[in-house]
Amino acid sequence: MPYVVAEPCINCKHTDCVEVCPVDCFYEGPNFLVIHPDECIDCNACVPVCPVEAIFPDDELPEEWEHYTQWNQYLAEKWQGLGYNIVEKKDAMPDAEEWDGKEKSEEDILDWEEG
Ligand code: SF4
Ligand code: SF4
Repeated sequence: MPYVVAEPCINCKHTDCVEVCPVDCFYEGPNFLVIHPDECIDCNACVPVCPVEAIFPDDELPEEWEHYTQWNQYLAEKWQGLGYNIVEKKDAMPDAEEWDGKEKSEEDILDWEEG
C-alpha cells in the first residue's frame, strides 16, 4: 500500500515531503513529484507536511485521482533512471501560490525530455 502523489502537487514543488521521508523515495519531474512505490515504507510522515494535501495511501485516493497510482509507478521508474531522486527541500515553483486549489493539467508532468 504505497503512498501516491496526486494532482494537487502539480506546479507546486513545496517539497516539504522530501525533507521528512526516511527512505528518500521521492523523484522530481519538471513540475511534479512522485513516490517510488517499491521504496515507500508507508510511514505516513509526508502526508501532514504537504501544504496542498496531495499525498494519499493508494487505497484512499479520491476516485478522480486513482490513476495517479500508475503515474507514480511509471514516472518514478523513469526519473529514477535519469537520476532525479530528490532528497532535500528546495524553493517552491514561482507560481505555486497561484495554482493552489486550481484544477491542473497532466500534460506537463511527463519526463524532462518530453515535458
Ligand atoms: S509537499 Fe506536497 S505539493 Fe509539495 S512537492 Fe511534496 S507532494 Fe508535492
Ligand atoms: S509514506 Fe513515508 S516512506 Fe512513503 S513517501 Fe511518505 S514519507 Fe516517504
